[in-house]
Amino acid sequence: MKRKCQESENSNRGQVSYPKVLIERDAMVSSTGVATAQPLFSFGLISDVQYADIPDGRSFLGVPRYYRHSILVLQRAVKEWNTHQKHKFVINLGDIVDGFCPKDQSINAVKKVVDEFEMFRGPVYHMIGNHCLYNLPRSKLLPLLKIQTLDGHAYYDFSPVPDYRFVVLDTYDISAIGWPQDHPRALEAMQLLREKNPNEDKNSPTNLVGVERRFLMFNGGVGKEQMEWLDGVLQDATKLKQKVVVSSHLPLDPCAATEEALLWNYDEVMNLIHKYNCVKVCLAGHDHKGGYSIDSHGVHHRVLEAALECPPGTDAFGSVYVYDDRISLVGIDRMASTDMYFSHQ
Ligand SMILES: [Zn+2]
Repeated sequence: MKRKCQESENSNRGQVSYPKVLIERDAMVSSTGVATAQPLFSFGLISDVQYADIPDGRSFLGVPRYYRHSILVLQRAVKEWNTHQKHKFVINLGDIVDGFCPKDQSINAVKKVVDEFEMFRGPVYHMIGNHCLYNLPRSKLLPLLKIQTLDGHAYYDFSPVPDYRFVVLDTYDISAIGWPQDHPRALEAMQLLREKNPNEDKNSPTNLVGVERRFLMFNGGVGKEQMEWLDGVLQDATKLKQKVVVSSHLPLDPCAATEEALLWNYDEVMNLIHKYNCVKVCLAGHDHKGGYSIDSHGVHHRVLEAALECPPGTDAFGSVYVYDDRISLVGIDRMASTDMYFSHQ
């Protein structure tokens, strides 16, 4: 798992371990084995399944990808989650089907993966990723993922217990993929890419430096309306004294992910989040190797390891235990475990 920005003054507040853990069902232990209070609730977590019925391949950086095996990882994850009585729901951080999936198989491949998720005996909260959008436009994808929002948006929130609020961001709100080509949000995305990325191929970061390397076509941004909505949710959560977990396909902190994986306007979103004290943890996918950081305001950022990159017989999924003072991710196999203690209540 990638850990950058180690010099952060807050970096000692979280703990990461790499055990091949077999934790007792809903046990009263943290991932590091410390006895603790009962969690308020727990949930399952997985990212970047990227299933396709095609032979194994490699990413553009040469990392092996196991397109057929990834659905087996999901099956084992669901089986495991179903043994946890306190798992209230599952969060899927996006990219359920790979962009190489033959387009005449896209709908069936998405349905097949969704059906596996639905074997979980509780709600599953999906979010959309670039690979989902290479396969299907929003109009077809959102109903299959049961994301019910107005105007094709895919952001929403839910509150599993009174003390906690979960926010799911739509990180392809401003995007050159998923919307019809002449849609205002697609046009806005293309204009931004023309301004920020001089390369002919807008998926190439050549000559872009540092965090500027995020201005790639396979990424996206959060639009003005969604920012206003998020502001309202965070205001409301603050009023209700709720702690907030933000989930998004694209990562929000440069210290937890590669520059090429970041949300275009991660800085704007984080400036808004930092206006409040309610957001404790941000979860993301997209940057397959995983990462972890604590930012300057004490917000934890955990980017999850991809199910797609598990060699046959290995796994990458997790169970998350939520307490008053921390959130503990217990990772299985290739997913590292992370205890995230809150810096202030
Ligand atoms: Zn992605």
